[in-house]
Amino acid sequence: MTEDTIFHKILRQEIPCEEVYSDELCLAFRDIEPQAPCHILIIPRKTIPSLNEVIKEDSNLLGHLLFIGAKIANEEGLKSWRTIINTGEESGQTVFQLHVHVIGGRKLKWPPG
Ligand code: AMP
Repeated sequence: MTEDTIFHKILRQEIPCEEVYSDELCLAFRDIEPQAPCHILIIPRKTIPSLNEVIKEDSNLLGHLLFIGAKIANEEGLKSWRTIINTGEESGQTVFQLHVHVIGGRKLKWPPG
């Protein structure tokens, strides 16, 4: 299992990020190409390429990522926002370390493209 995605390099502090939250389970930082005024990524410290690879033991970790997403959205002052987890290339996933997008600060369209 590769540990060589750009997000692993961020976790290992080999490349910088604009960190907004960190704990023993996850790291959150601002997206380098924000799609809205607020665009934050939350990634687990455990290597998980995507939701296609999660196991039952990851359930609490997955819940934690969403809980931290809500905490960050609140701290960012967002009243309305979206979480996105792209899974697989056709969904738009480009980095194969699981990540939750937290996007807000503008009106978001539905359905997504
Ligand atoms: P996805 O397309 O769901 O895999 O999302 C990957 C996201 O990572 C994209 O929104 C990119 O803009 C973002 N991204 C890629 N490299 C970096 C980086 N070095 N720092 C912050 N965000 C990044």
